[in-house]
Amino acid sequence: MFGNKKKANVGIVCVGSELLFHTVNTNIHTATRLLETKGFGVSYNVIVGDEIERIQTAVKFCTENCDVVVVSGGLGPTFDDLTRESISQLIGRKLIFSVEAWNEIQERFKARMITEIPEKNKKQAMIIEGSKMLSNKLGTAPGMMLEYKGKTIFLLPGVPAEFEEMFKEYVVSELEKRFSSPVGIVCRGFGITGVPEAVVEEKTEKLRETISRFGGNWVVLAFPYLIELWLRLPQTESSLFNKVELELREIFKDSFLGLDGISIPEALLKILKEKKLTCAFAESCTGGLAGHLITEVPGSSECFNGSMVVYSNTLKKKILKIPKTLLRKFGAVSEETAIAMSKSARKYGKADVSLAITGIAGPSGATPEKPVGLVWMAVAITNHYFESKKFYFSGTRSMIKLRAALAGIDFLRRTVMKIQ
Ligand code: ATP
Repeated sequence: MFGNKKKANVGIVCVGSELLFHTVNTNIHTATRLLETKGFGVSYNVIVGDEIERIQTAVKFCTENCDVVVVSGGLGPTFDDLTRESISQLIGRKLIFSVEAWNEIQERFKARMITEIPEKNKKQAMIIEGSKMLSNKLGTAPGMMLEYKGKTIFLLPGVPAEFEEMFKEYVVSELEKRFSSPVGIVCRGFGITGVPEAVVEEKTEKLRETISRFGGNWVVLAFPYLIELWLRLPQTESSLFNKVELELREIFKDSFLGLDGISIPEALLKILKEKKLTCAFAESCTGGLAGHLITEVPGSSECFNGSMVVYSNTLKKKILKIPKTLLRKFGAVSEETAIAMSKSARKYGKADVSLAITGIAGPSGATPEKPVGLVWMAVAITNHYFESKKFYFSGTRSMIKLRAALAGIDFLRRTVMKIQ
């Protein structure tokens, strides 16, 4: 059991052969983010395939070296879901059928209008003797929490949305209850868009020195088109957060995105909502990705009317009524076409403001004047007020598409911010 409050040492074991092949382990990012914001951190992360011995070795290592161990994945009903068997064997406790877990599983099926529950799902109602069942509101696999040799082990489902909800509800809250965050540390995040990491570092050198004089530091996380600075300060110095925010706003002006992990699409929707505006997109090289990213945010329909994917010149002419002559004279990837697309997106998308993206995602389609990665964007704010900008992105086709979509959304955000 936990004795006095002290710094928590957390180990995460992610189970799943797919994590060694093709699936990106996003659960570790989720866990780290959720813990960092509360002043905790991850000491170890081990990825193991669906093999009993390896799962046991990983869990044994973490229980020997950590106070809290979180195991993600392998709680499903199929033959390769081996987490519960592995841990029950490792710690020498039986698996027992839990009526409470079975009732929950039945309810989840009922909610999906499934009346005949596969017999296999009974496996998910087996919990390790002495463990507490953890409800899973989003899926069928309940989790577990158990104490073993003075350590706490959580078993959570691997499905990222389920893992996140349960990690927040059970792991973070349990850590807060039982452990103090390291010496009363508090944490906040600041987002900066479109500025390379090295430039962020250069521009914040003095600020970093000030922060360290107050016993704080920050972790720099680099995402596509976004840098996040996660600042940790001793509780006693938490008034410094506001000063840091003001200074970062001053240094980065409209590149300052917002606080505590806000995403680029969320920031655009926030400002559109504040200004009571709607938007529409016209996308060529991003193939609808900007529309996808914005609709990932719950409640986006309040401000987002839609995106017109006009990949070919035929559709640019047909849907957006871009004149043939303009396309012939300047080409699809040009400032003139981007501006025309943005005006049409605004008009046909029946929106207050709009964004158009047209570029060369590669690997083919480049010319000496128009290299791979060249993207023209335009935003239209009124019939007569619009802005355009040329971007160059590097990387693979999918990286260029993602960066272009995020940069476009961010370009619209910056322009909308200027509207009085
Ligand atoms: P299920 O009841 O769905 O089987 P589970 O607990 O057994 O739940 P897994 O079978 O391990 O979970 O994984 C379910 C899905 O979640 C899979 O698509 C898998 O690729 C994905 N997944 C599992 N672990 C992770 C992870 N660490 N990061 C990202 N995705 C993951």
